[in-house]
Amino acid sequence: MTSVAFVALAAAVVFLGLWLREASHRRELSRTLNEKRAENTTLREAQARTAVEAKAQRETIFNSMGEGVLLLDTGGRIQLANRAFERLFGVNHDICGRTVLEAVRLKELPELINRVRALGQVLGHELVVPGLDRRCLQVNAAAILDAAGRPQGMILVFHDLTRLKQLENTRQEFVANVSHELRTPLSLIKGYVETLIDGAKNDPAVASRFLQTIAKHTDRLTYLIEDLLTISQLESGQVALNLHAVELRPLAGRVAEDLAARAAVRQITFANQVPAGLSARADADRVQQVLFNLVDNAIKYGAAGTVVTLGGGTAGDGQVALWVHNDGAGIPPAAQDRIFERFYRVDKARSREQGGTGLGLAIVKHIVQTHGGEVRVEGAPGQGATFRFTLPSV
Ligand code: ADP
Repeated sequence: MTSVAFVALAAAVVFLGLWLREASHRRELSRTLNEKRAENTTLREAQARTAVEAKAQRETIFNSMGEGVLLLDTGGRIQLANRAFERLFGVNHDICGRTVLEAVRLKELPELINRVRALGQVLGHELVVPGLDRRCLQVNAAAILDAAGRPQGMILVFHDLTRLKQLENTRQEFVANVSHELRTPLSLIKGYVETLIDGAKNDPAVASRFLQTIAKHTDRLTYLIEDLLTISQLESGQVALNLHAVELRPLAGRVAEDLAARAAVRQITFANQVPAGLSARADADRVQQVLFNLVDNAIKYGAAGTVVTLGGGTAGDGQVALWVHNDGAGIPPAAQDRIFERFYRVDKARSREQGGTGLGLAIVKHIVQTHGGEVRVEGAPGQGATFRFTLPSV
């Protein structure tokens, strides 16, 4: 080989070597680049997955909340409304993207949102959602800010106060009723005592009559306070039932015996038709109280000179039934559902005259329901009344 050819060959070998190294380097670079691209794609996919998971997690949390939640963007459009919000306002989930006014048509909300924007603080407001159940809601609104304090939107949280308000109304009504019930006999007692002091005490016949009336009204106060204590124990759940197998016929017999003197005043007699051997799994003292209240009412409101019947039998579904029937005027159909309410009376004057507290049937209902039973009244006007209640059988 000539020296020229040798040099050319050597140059070619060197060039080939360089070219191969360069090619391998390029391949290496390209592999690294591909790996980086793949890594970036995986990273982006992972980030996207994390965002989706975070959104799903956020929605699960919001949807499991009892309070309604609305998230608004900076333009005041709905970004998210949870299930409780949809339920409270009776809207469905396609309200995203709408303004609050478009979604729920309540002027008070945009006004609240504008005030929160202007004042930049958490604000609360009470509102009533028009509709059949007229829900009463407390809404708290707060601006959402980023780390630099720039507004990012707003969050509104709605608490349903309807039940609380109803309880508060019931409580107020109850206190007003109790005050009235206490005041009436007290002012009568005061009136008679003052008349006695002013001179009536000097006439023995008048004094004796007044003292009997005073005794009647003090009895009424005593019954009222006893019934109030019973109602309060029952309603606060303090009453633990002492459940046993209770034979019902002897129990009905005891109630009839206890009330015999009172029945005799109105020439009323009893027929105990509860079958022998009929038993319930119940608290004997409480069932006796139920029968006592029902029979006492039958004596008070039934026709004089008639028979009050106590009956019973099996009622299916593992229950037994007991009933108390009296003849007389009965209860008008419109009042039949209401007489179990506290202080509801068909004829106020007559009930008070009889020494009634207006709580007897409310106590009956509570005791029966605490046993898992039901109570109802039957009877057309003029055909007397039948109170029937169920208890679990043994
Ligand atoms: P009260 O102390 O007034 O008797 P209750 O709760 O026992 O209170 O009864 C509520 C009302 O239901 C009574 O005031 C009366 O108007 C009516 N009522 C109850 N039992 C009878 C009945 N056997 N016949 C007719 N009306 C009745």
